Amino acid sequence: VAGRVVVVGGGFGGATTAKYIKRRNAAIDVTLIEPSPQFYTCPFSNLYLGGLRDFDAQTHGFDELRSLGVRVIQGFAQDVDPVIKAIKLASGERLAYDKLVLSPGIDIRWDALAGYDEAAAQLAPHAWKAGQQTLLLKRQLDAMPDGGLFLMVAPANPFRCPPGPYERASMVAYYLKTHKPKSKILILDAKNNFSKQTLFTDAWSKLYGEMIEWVPANKDGNVIRVDAQNLTVETEFSVRHKASVLNVIPPQSAGLIAQRAGVTNKSGWVPVQAQTFESSQVSDIYVVGDATIAAPMPKSGFCANAQGKVAAAAIVSALTGKEVATASWANTCYSLVGPNYGISVAGVYGVSEGKIVEIKGSGGVSPREASQEIRKREADYGVAWYNAIAQDTWG
Ligand code: FAD
Repeated sequence: VAGRVVVVGGGFGGATTAKYIKRRNAAIDVTLIEPSPQFYTCPFSNLYLGGLRDFDAQTHGFDELRSLGVRVIQGFAQDVDPVIKAIKLASGERLAYDKLVLSPGIDIRWDALAGYDEAAAQLAPHAWKAGQQTLLLKRQLDAMPDGGLFLMVAPANPFRCPPGPYERASMVAYYLKTHKPKSKILILDAKNNFSKQTLFTDAWSKLYGEMIEWVPANKDGNVIRVDAQNLTVETEFSVRHKASVLNVIPPQSAGLIAQRAGVTNKSGWVPVQAQTFESSQVSDIYVVGDATIAAPMPKSGFCANAQGKVAAAAIVSALTGKEVATASWANTCYSLVGPNYGISVAGVYGVSEGKIVEIKGSGGVSPREASQEIRKREADYGVAWYNAIAQDTWG
């Protein structure tokens, strides 16, 4: 055995890291810990809300990882002792590691928005972790009367998937336009601008007329209190809004295990060394995905996958005494605004003076003026991207 690696989390970052360590060096012992027997992706969950995809199409398992020799434990990592280098599971089992990888994604900061706790999320779902929450939001949408209000509360930066709330509003608008055309969507935002903003707002007027209203923080969009029982929210300037369906996307932090391991800082997120994604605070713990502070890279599944590959290469190099290769990453976030109407933002990243930087002249967003043919092509690229990344991550 060339070393023992334990990976926490079977999502985009964790599954990719486990797979790519095994592919680079099968002699490394790799264990993956994930509580769920299957992983439901957030990417394309908005299309399910729009009625454009089945829920099951976003479900992935761990058989490919097992066939590569990864030991997959269905369990929950509870604590980390970075001194003796061991991890404790909720079952009581302990695992020793030479290198630990954490890709726990996000946790909701239940204390951050008054009134929004775990019980409230059963009435006003966030659906910002896919699975039961996504199904709940869809059931509420299906039960909503024509002429009702779908109210979304959008968070301040940083948060998982910067274009995600606005893709969701688009897909909900598509569903409402086709099933309940008298309904409205109101987005109350804690920000003054958002990812791909003009591309979204152009498309909204074109496809959905006046259906979607977006209120930025400086126009009293900042929600400070949620009353989930009454499906009501209150803004900074004491204005109350009552919803038929209330979708609260609350402030977030790195998944709890990152805090337990001592790798988070005051912000609640994890600072990492750019070249390897090893924690800046605790050696031999690598963190990838949404849990990290990796700006200008966004918190996306694409980035989590790309960071997982960099961490895998760094870990294999460290365990086999080789030099670490120079890291670079790419990201594209596709958003579907309507059937056959896709938009995207892309970036290419490298390391300069120990920091992650966007490569000058790279990336950008879809053109503002574009033919329907180009919008359709981007929608098709989005589907191809999903199939490719799911295949790359889970097989
Ligand atoms: P995750 O993929 O969430 O994986 C974390 C895993 O860790 C989970 O399975 C969890 O069960 C497990 N875990 C947590 N704690 C523990 C523990 N203590 N022990 C064991 N296991 C644990 N990204 C894109 O690139 N493109 C898109 O189109 C896109 N669309 C999105 C749409 C929506 C609505 C949302 C919400 C997100 C979207 N994203 C998209 C973002 C993407 O979902 C995340 O960036 C990605 O999931 C991050 O990967 P991760 O590995 O950090 O976390």
